[in-house]
Amino acid sequence: MSERVDCVVIGAGVVGLACAAALAAAGREVLVLEKAALIGSETSSRNSEVIHAGIYYPPGSLKARLCRAGKARLYAYCAARGVPHRQLGKIIVAASAAQEDRLAAIRANAAANEVTDLEWLSAADIARLEPEVRGHRALFSPSTGIVDSHALMLALEGDLGTNGGMVVLGAEVDGGRCEADGIHLAIGGAEPMDLVARTVINCAGLHAPALAARLSGLPSQHVPQAFYAKGHYFRLSGRAPFVHLVYPVPEAGGLGIHLTLDLGGQAKFGPDVMWIDAPDYSFDASRLERFVAAIRTYYPGLDAEKLHPDYTGIRPKIVGPGVPDADFRIEDVRVHGVPGLVNLFGIESPGLTASLAIADLVAGLVTR
Ligand SMILES: Cc1cc2nc3c(=O)[nH]c(=O)nc-3n(C[C@H](O)[C@H](O)[C@H](O)COP(=O)(O)OP(=O)(O)OC[C@H]3O[C@@H](n4cnc5c(N)ncnc54)[C@H](O)[C@@H]3O)c2cc1C
Repeated sequence: MSERVDCVVIGAGVVGLACAAALAAAGREVLVLEKAALIGSETSSRNSEVIHAGIYYPPGSLKARLCRAGKARLYAYCAARGVPHRQLGKIIVAASAAQEDRLAAIRANAAANEVTDLEWLSAADIARLEPEVRGHRALFSPSTGIVDSHALMLALEGDLGTNGGMVVLGAEVDGGRCEADGIHLAIGGAEPMDLVARTVINCAGLHAPALAARLSGLPSQHVPQAFYAKGHYFRLSGRAPFVHLVYPVPEAGGLGIHLTLDLGGQAKFGPDVMWIDAPDYSFDASRLERFVAAIRTYYPGLDAEKLHPDYTGIRPKIVGPGVPDADFRIEDVRVHGVPGLVNLFGIESPGLTASLAIADLVAGLVTR
């Protein structure tokens, strides 16, 4: 005999926790099943922790809409719940006159996304704002910021608990069956059990496609192939000579090796793009030379001795190398035909920024 629950969220990353908190706030009984021993053990704690403005994404895409809405929601939420964050602003630097057209295109795209606060900076403006940064011209994004992603997840877990929900750690969902009376889930880990849920939200991040493929009754054409693009970060030791985030113009698969600051003022550079066959967080320190060359295009005074391997994160891609980035895929019964199931695929950047807006969307889909 299986236990029945109203709503199961699979995965306690920032998106799963945000969805769970939103559903619990809407009056649903919510259980979050997380395979790891801690919340936020994967992509949600292996990213740049940047609150993105919503500049780069194709107008009208979910990424564009949810980033812009999520940014506003996130700043308000962090202020209300005491989650550490700072609206530092970011500079996107054209290293040469040849890249200036790229900046103009970024500015036009941002405007199409209703992000209209980007300002042009001359080489002299750049030197005034960031004396160590060199550039031909730049754009300044005043609404970009940083957030303590772990504190955010703890706040969301707290909200979930306040509304009667809970996270079960060490509870890996092995697979399931979509049936008329609900979605039957097989849970492994230390205490294996079966659950039947009316609603299941698949927020398993890198593993969401593999998990969806193990749900019998979900047509396979609604399960994308997973691809993985690893990014390395190098930490800059000593006091950071920067007060803003500094980005080059974007590269294929990512935003380019940029400079971010954490809330303690520590500078780190990354992430690069390295396609891998399966999730693996090992650090390839031989990438240092490439980092030094990329960073020196905008920070010529870099002392390479001060760069140290820090960590890696893996983008949960649903298209492979050489293909334009895919949009977020958030799919419910209207797409795949299975009542009660919502799959979230390809929730790469700006998923942290967009997390609260994604949660609003998902809660709307299942409480209609
Ligand atoms: C290098 C990098 C840099 C980024 N930088 C930024 C940034 O600066 N700003 C921004 O907005 N976004 C950024 N992102 C994107 C952002 O980090 C992600 O969109 C976000 O963290 C995704 O959260 P999630 O909850 O969907 O996934 P995850 O955090 O990966 O959570 C998924 C959870 O599901 C669990 N799980 C998996 N399978 C199962 C199972 N079968 N049963 C139970 N549990 C399971 C996992 O253990 C994990 O805890 C970046 C991403 C990367 C990779």
